[in-house]
Amino acid sequence: PERIDTAGWTGDGGTSDGERVKILANVGAAADTTAAVSAGAEGVGLFRTEFCYLAAQDEPDVATQRAAYAEVLEPFAGKPVVVRTLDAGADKPLGFLDTGAEPNPALGVRGLRVAFDRPDVLDRQLEAIAAAADDSGAEVSVMAPMVATPEEAAWFTERARTAGIARAGVMVEVPAAALIAAELFEVVDFVSVGTNDLAQYVFAADRQLGALAELNDPWQPALLRLIAMIGRAGAETGKPVGVCGEAAADPLLGRVLVGLGVRSLSMVATAVPAVGSALAGASLRTCERAARDALAASDVATAKAAARAAFE
Ligand code: PEP
Ligand code: MG
Repeated sequence: PERIDTAGWTGDGGTSDGERVKILANVGAAADTTAAVSAGAEGVGLFRTEFCYLAAQDEPDVATQRAAYAEVLEPFAGKPVVVRTLDAGADKPLGFLDTGAEPNPALGVRGLRVAFDRPDVLDRQLEAIAAAADDSGAEVSVMAPMVATPEEAAWFTERARTAGIARAGVMVEVPAAALIAAELFEVVDFVSVGTNDLAQYVFAADRQLGALAELNDPWQPALLRLIAMIGRAGAETGKPVGVCGEAAADPLLGRVLVGLGVRSLSMVATAVPAVGSALAGASLRTCERAARDALAASDVATAKAAARAAFE
């Protein structure tokens, strides 16, 4: 593997020729923020709020939610934090949002779909997030999980604005959302690609099954081509595209994603210095060349080798 010198990482993300790329951390609870801050993350690109309530049997009231969110937001006063609304269902069932028995939970009522039946729960969460944003001084935006259509995205952003949250976006983790990205951008302020679920749904391969890990590899050219489509739609509309799935934690793939038009990478805190340093040592042109060559590959090994060669 490539050796990356992380000693000079300052926390100002971008390429060697000055293209700005935010290097952010994924957090699930207040304990994760310490690691994110000490790793030099510029903010949070994905706050998985459902992690706060995996053991809760009853819906926490607005005051309880406000306190929990404020605790995570406070270390990031003045910095960007993307708060994802509850991504319940499938691999993360919540006791107070029972979606009933489903034959295929990953294809069932999960993420934002839960909120269509229970908009009151979403509205209370948005109210708590807006209040916690004021408490903390963080630059908060909200983001919905498992969005499939522009109509769903519009429904969500409307509710976020009604709650007084200025910036609202959606995750792109359903292939339909990627295919219709241009229209999604008409109703959202930003998107963030969830490569974990996007890979699962593109390859029809359960992300929890180790036996299917080769299909769930974020270097799969089919997945890269879909991300390229989203990157192009973002560039055309001038709205930001981020990645917050595991793909962003790979220093080589992170540079390829920037070459595909991604302008924020959000990852597990421990990966922040390596991804930030790798990007700081690469020009945007080289990232774009690596992306072009990886896109032209038809398998994982060739895509990786092509990207590696671009940086040699
Ligand atoms: C993803 O799907 O890539 C993602 C970031 O969300 P989660 O892993 O929480 O489903
Ligand atoms: Mg997901």
